Amino acid sequence: MTSPVVDEDGALKPALQLLGDAIHRLCGPQSQFMDGKLLWASSRYMQLRDATAGEQVNTGTGGGSKSQPPCWLDAVDLLAEIDAAVECWQPAFSGVPATVGRLRWIEKRSWRPQDVRQIEQIIGAVAEWAAQIDALLDPPKRWTLPFPCPQCESTIVYRKDSGGDMVRQQALNISEDGCTCIKCKAFWPPERFTWLGRVLGSLPKNVLEEGA
Ligand SMILES: [Zn+2]
Repeated sequence: MTSPVVDEDGALKPALQLLGDAIHRLCGPQSQFMDGKLLWASSRYMQLRDATAGEQVNTGTGGGSKSQPPCWLDAVDLLAEIDAAVECWQPAFSGVPATVGRLRWIEKRSWRPQDVRQIEQIIGAVAEWAAQIDALLDPPKRWTLPFPCPQCESTIVYRKDSGGDMVRQQALNISEDGCTCIKCKAFWPPERFTWLGRVLGSLPKNVLEEGA
């Protein structure tokens, strides 16, 4: 142990409040308003678990590829990191899954004012995991562009969706990561958005600002 930092008694209460908030953000159900209705979704942690378990049997990509999506390994790694760190903080647990049970115990532990620094470290890690799960499971925003591809001149392509139905789609797909033609696979990184915008006449304003 390094030299303990003894905080004032008052600092414990806000730290425990933040700890509870951070754990809830990772392990509590998520609520969202949609069309005026309050909807509930499972927690970030459970969604991460589901994502790593479900993708193993899902090979129906329609494109013939059986490889996992690129984020799948990241999700497996992140889940392993969370489980290992939480077990290290709190070996004993009750409940299923173990990590959620352990975090509930951590939340209810008899913390003392001199533990505030340790509490803050836990808050930082838990908050970071919640943000990483959001980044992994919420795909980046994507737009399609109603313009012909500068390379192959396709505007519309027809492709099978995951259910095997033919869908009509714009050839050019753009996100903050770059612009891709799904017909000829041409790719333009964000540094070329200004050039693309000149060739095509316009790009979504928010994308241009991101890539400028
Ligand atoms: Zn193209």
